[in-house]
Amino acid sequence: MGVTLSITNQKGGVAKTTTAIHLAAGIARIHKNKKVLLIDLDSQRNASSVMIKDANLAPEQTCFPIFQGKSISSNQFHDSSEPNLMVIPASLQLVEVESLLSNAIDGFFHLNEAVEKLGNEFDFIIFDCPPSLSVITINAMVAAQHLIIPMQVSKFSIDGIQGITDAVNTVKKRYNAKLNILGALLVMYDERNTLSKAVVPQIQKKLTVFETTISKSVTVEEAHLLKENLFSYAPKSKVTQAYMKLAEELLSHVE
Ligand code: ADP
Ligand code: MG
Repeated sequence: MGVTLSITNQKGGVAKTTTAIHLAAGIARIHKNKKVLLIDLDSQRNASSVMIKDANLAPEQTCFPIFQGKSISSNQFHDSSEPNLMVIPASLQLVEVESLLSNAIDGFFHLNEAVEKLGNEFDFIIFDCPPSLSVITINAMVAAQHLIIPMQVSKFSIDGIQGITDAVNTVKKRYNAKLNILGALLVMYDERNTLSKAVVPQIQKKLTVFETTISKSVTVEEAHLLKENLFSYAPKSKVTQAYMKLAEELLSHVE
């Protein structure tokens, strides 16, 4: 099995999707001979809309069947702009998963089982989670070896840490002993800001924090609008280089 990474935070708008896309593309560019898979688990389909051309997909061509207990089949894999990066897109129908699995005793294991069946087909598998601690997010925690928690510097982010670490500890105890929080990633971060100076030490008390930080840049939104990743859209930009540095820092921990 390859390395499995989940990009998770129950808050929305904290650059989970942006981080999932650019870690996947960054790793694919560093390791051109390795295969990377990104699975979009959010019914909002943000990662899918940036990364794949096809807009109108049938549910069978997305990750939805995984949550019906089915194995992943070839029509669920879609090409991205990076030759060694494939995407399993999300479906609007993922909103049904909560009720579909609420009474299923194996409801937390579907993603893990599907991904295990892929065997050695991929070297890295990255999950882009929805903004909630839902059944789908728990599935990602059960299937992942490593968790990355993107967060903005704010009082509410600190308040949210407890919820996610509680969920991780429960999953570790009951379902997936190998789950490991690799760290918090500071996004849209400005180190000169006085709030940062006050808040970052409080985050560090609770979580390991990645050395690499991601600054705020309109380039991110521009790239997404054009359905490009930062590495192709703005290779020289500071935020692009930060995401490449993050991919390298991550690889130094997981390889
Ligand atoms: P999430 O998946 O956690 O909801 P997104 O990755 O969708 O978060 O990011 C939320 C919004 O912030 C998006 O519009 C995205 O383009 C924008 N964004 C993400 N990272 C940055 C950044 N470093 N600078 C500026 N805008 C960003
Ligand atoms: Mg998202």
